[in-house]
Amino acid sequence: MPLESFAIPVACHLIGGVWTPGAERLTLSDPSTGETLTEIARGTAAEIDAAVDAAHAARAGDWGRMTALERGRILTRLGQLILTKTEELAQLEARDVGKPLTQARADAVALARYMEFYGGAADKIMGETIPYLDGYTVYTLREPHGVTGHIIPWNYPMQIIGRSVGAALAMGNACVLKPAEEACLTALAFAQLALDAGLPAGALNVVTGLGAEAGAALAGHPRIQHVSFTGSVGVGSLIQTAAAKNVVPVTLELGGKSPQIVFDDADLDRALPFLVNAGVQNAGQTCSASSRILVQRGVYDEVRTRMAQAYGALTVGPALSDPKVGPLISARQKDIVQGYLAKGADLTIAAEGVLTPEAGNAGHYVRPTLFAEVPSDHALAQQEIFGPVQVLIPFEDEAEALRIANSTEYGLVAAVWTRDGARQMRLAKALHAGQVFLNNYGAGGGVELPFGGVGKSGHGREKGFEALYGFSQLKTVAAWHG
Ligand code: NAD
Repeated sequence: MPLESFAIPVACHLIGGVWTPGAERLTLSDPSTGETLTEIARGTAAEIDAAVDAAHAARAGDWGRMTALERGRILTRLGQLILTKTEELAQLEARDVGKPLTQARADAVALARYMEFYGGAADKIMGETIPYLDGYTVYTLREPHGVTGHIIPWNYPMQIIGRSVGAALAMGNACVLKPAEEACLTALAFAQLALDAGLPAGALNVVTGLGAEAGAALAGHPRIQHVSFTGSVGVGSLIQTAAAKNVVPVTLELGGKSPQIVFDDADLDRALPFLVNAGVQNAGQTCSASSRILVQRGVYDEVRTRMAQAYGALTVGPALSDPKVGPLISARQKDIVQGYLAKGADLTIAAEGVLTPEAGNAGHYVRPTLFAEVPSDHALAQQEIFGPVQVLIPFEDEAEALRIANSTEYGLVAAVWTRDGARQMRLAKALHAGQVFLNNYGAGGGVELPFGGVGKSGHGREKGFEALYGFSQLKTVAAWHG
């Protein structure tokens, strides 16, 4: 049983510090083989209710009474514990998500790093004093929302738990986490490690199950005080609507169609690995995947040729064989990606990756595909595919590059490759994106860097110190003392 090494019973929720068998069950399968992995509990509204009650009880009890220093120490200890379990977590994630081992290991290390970062930050969140009228002293207090709901997708469970649950706990919130029904084993393992590290019962509750059932019950729960959602635009909109009925704030981390813009003067040796990896990491199932590569005419042919060569080395196979590209999460996701590949039938394919013999016939594999000379208004250049598919779009000058880059409804990430410093500054301001990378892509995913989108990519920021503001509210205290 995959969860054996974490001593977690099958098909249970974690509610109030107790592994509680679910009333009903769902099956999880391994995307690399299609084989059944294990069963998980299919959470109901009643179980969400119990988890929310447990979180409120924790806020009213040990957890709510802890000092920031004590909270920080628990998170720091949890980070250290995770570091001793990175291999077990990576193996679990590889089987559950179909994520190549090297990438799964990096996610496990990132999860530990989030706990270290937020553990260290917990006692450094301060208000301010505000000069005001004679006779007054005015100051602000940063307070937790109370009980926060976290609804997350299957593509980066560990990273997303780290950035959202980590920050919420550091602020003193108690959390109810609803991981994705396609992949939730590392969420359960994380919860057990949190208990082992000394997190009080009820400070973190995990209810597994379907989005339309457990997820909807959590998003619309009248006693949830903030909802953090990472996932698709359609569901994000439902979450915001549900939370609005209770006048509850939401953070939405949604999709993207992120461009990298390569100018004639770019350092191509440096750019090349980023151009390809940012598109195919986690089989392209990454919100910040760079699915559009905009290239200035002068270097277009060279970039196309060199990217095509790199695609020739993209091996596709089972996650545990640690290929460059693993399977997609599900047969449904494979259908969606193949649908997009069919929509590209009128386009030129510049290169494809290589299916290894180990891939077999049962996993959800697609060959990474690079399309050339793609019109910027083509469906493949506008819509989020969520698979290992990239389009090359040529442009003539900076104005055209900017127009194309800003032409989708998304605004998550953009990168600019140029040696021209003034151009870097102009584009950093003009690009419609939550984060802009200059001569890099993703800056190594650092936990310190605030992250989030504009437009349909969502609103609110997670990661870094900024997340702590999102998981708290400001109280103004004005004292008149004459
Ligand atoms: P999804 O929206 O279908 O599911 C995400 C989560 O929402 C799951 O836990 C699911 O069970 C739950 N859910 C589904 N329907 C629900 C409902 N009616 N009410 C409440 N919860 C519900 O997304 P997905 O297909 O699993 O993930 C892919 C999407 O996530 C992509 O669009 C991707 O770009 C986005 N994503 C964004 C980020 C980011 O940080 N911006 C990170 C990862 C993924």
